[in-house]
Amino acid sequence: MIKFKEFIIKEQGEASITFVDIDDTLFNTFAKVIVKDKKTGKVLRKLSSGEFKDYKFKDDEEMDVSEFQDSKLFRNTSKAIPTMVKRINRLIKSIDRFGKGDRVVLLTARGKPNDLRVFRQTFRDWGINIDNIDNAHFVGGDTASNVVEGKAKVMRSYLDTGRFNKTMMFEDAEKNLKKFMSLKKEYPGVEFVPILVNSSGIPKLWKGK
Ligand SMILES: [Mg+2]
Repeated sequence: MIKFKEFIIKEQGEASITFVDIDDTLFNTFAKVIVKDKKTGKVLRKLSSGEFKDYKFKDDEEMDVSEFQDSKLFRNTSKAIPTMVKRINRLIKSIDRFGKGDRVVLLTARGKPNDLRVFRQTFRDWGINIDNIDNAHFVGGDTASNVVEGKAKVMRSYLDTGRFNKTMMFEDAEKNLKKFMSLKKEYPGVEFVPILVNSSGIPKLWKGK
């Protein structure tokens, strides 16, 4: 008699799904988090993503992430990371060639861009074949934990289809890779490959826990 678990694995598809982050993974980007006075709405300061990581908001301050939805700013200031452009285009090409249902999707903590056309054009500007990337998910949470959970939710929605037996994640944020690897136990028939893109834009297999 065939065990239930073996049955699931046998029935699993043989396609791969690759999740690719945008900020500091595929592009170096320069949108800032705006700190505003809660009452007056006055802009108090702007934080780079590096500064934002350690910033403690005061009770009378609020966060404004609108720059991350500003497509013009994204197009005018972002710089694609060359190693990753090559890597993602190679992935997309192999999808075209073998067509066995492999997919590449963008998975970002950004909110939805205010102009999707301009946003997508930025990828073409830098030679990224976005027209063959079949989806983009804008998780857009307000807090760090929402972003991690938001990304996990999107990944589950793909993995739950049972069509994939391999998944990769390209990320610069280890907390997202950690979450990605924690999903492994939910999908025993799926191979999980975590790739960390370091600050020099070099993708390497992530060995963290
Ligand atoms: Mg990132």
